[in-house]
Amino acid sequence: MNPKQTDVLIIGAGAAGMMCALTAALRGRSVLLLDHSAKLAEKIRISGGGRCNFTNLNAKPENFLSGNPHFCRSALARYTPQHFMAMLDKHGLKYHEKTLGQLFCDDGSEAIIAMLKSECDAAGVRWCMPCGVDEILSPRPAGERGEGRGDDFFVTTPRGKYRASSLVIATGGLSIPKIGATPFGYKVAEQFGVPMTKLKPGLVPLTFHPEEWAPYAELSGASLEAVVSFGKHSFRENLLFTHRGLSGPAILQISSYWEPGKPLSIDLLPDHDLREMFVQQRGSKMLLGNFLAQYLPKRLAEIVATQWLENKPLNQYAERELRALADKLKNWQITPSGTLGYSKAEVTCGGVDTRALSSKTMECSEVPGLYFIGEVLDVTGQLGGYNFQWAWASGYAAGQAV
Ligand SMILES: Cc1cc2nc3c(=O)[nH]c(=O)nc-3n(C[C@H](O)[C@H](O)[C@H](O)COP(=O)(O)OP(=O)(O)OC[C@H]3O[C@@H](n4cnc5c(N)ncnc54)[C@H](O)[C@@H]3O)c2cc1C
Repeated sequence: MNPKQTDVLIIGAGAAGMMCALTAALRGRSVLLLDHSAKLAEKIRISGGGRCNFTNLNAKPENFLSGNPHFCRSALARYTPQHFMAMLDKHGLKYHEKTLGQLFCDDGSEAIIAMLKSECDAAGVRWCMPCGVDEILSPRPAGERGEGRGDDFFVTTPRGKYRASSLVIATGGLSIPKIGATPFGYKVAEQFGVPMTKLKPGLVPLTFHPEEWAPYAELSGASLEAVVSFGKHSFRENLLFTHRGLSGPAILQISSYWEPGKPLSIDLLPDHDLREMFVQQRGSKMLLGNFLAQYLPKRLAEIVATQWLENKPLNQYAERELRALADKLKNWQITPSGTLGYSKAEVTCGGVDTRALSSKTMECSEVPGLYFIGEVLDVTGQLGGYNFQWAWASGYAAGQAV
């Protein structure tokens, strides 16, 4: 049977895939959007605790990690948070800024999915889901594809065979496999000789060796605002103690930068330096734990007092002991043993090497007609709506070119 012809075949109907599809279809291209999942855009649905932090007003290239830091610049400049906000306005959807430029949809993430679906439908995008991909063939092997166009891709699926002049891979990263994440995109890169960078879970809780963590495990659920640093990167946000380690926005942020085996530095008292206060309180009979509880959550104050020193009245410590404690509270060095992995990570750091792509179109320089967009690329946003902004911007860039 002859393959069904389409101008553009997009694999992955998530955030980037839908944006690419509607952009290309609005230009008059025939677009087929294929996804193996029965439910549309599950990652958007669960995002932002179901409320979808769909962009960040302050999105800049500096908010993204990549082995090729300037790559994201062009796409981000051509599709800004205001463009996506205009789409919400057009659909009468309300949104609000939570903190730090993070925009959330008042009507929840389902409204964002419905909006993108209706934009795709109005532009004439055809859907093929649930449908996996058995095989992708191109008439000539990677590296021997001709200059320019003309070498179509043939995609075999259980629902039939398709032929497309542009093939867009928008299958995302590895996080949360139980809602459909697969390494499909990386395998396509390998098939066509497109290089990859190293993968690791990002925006993920950190774990510690059980013996080292035992004193803190009972703090599970306690949280405070802290500054967490690794190398030149620092985040001042909430820090959450868990049974196995640390979580909360400050930790998720630093996890994307953290390198195994190396310590993090945590300032548990970003607004105070207790050195001076300890000097003033030298004669006090107040228990150290009670003194610390004025500045730290009570349970944490007790653990610090009993584990880092003994919990004695302040007047029974040597000045140097209290000075050392004050310093440790500002610079607690602690080495994670690992992360909770892809089952709990919000993103995958690393991916298809952007040096092999045009930053204007997302097309592979060595494989004309093959495009990668969204999280499958080695472009990872910080926490706060940046990952969706990258999905929209890269999807739009490819949608203009396919
Ligand atoms: C719990 C959680 C919360 C998040 N919250 C936010 C947030 O609030 N703000 C933010 O900016 N980012 C958030 N993110 C990150 C964000 O969801 C992703 O970065 C974004 O969805 C990536 O878009 P994408 O289109 O590249 O991939 P996805 O949206 O993951 O879409 C990929 C699509 O490809 C399909 N697919 C995968 N493999 C195959 C295959 N083999 N065959 C066919 N189809 C396939 C999948 O079914 C999926 O529909 C969150 C992530 C998680 C896990």
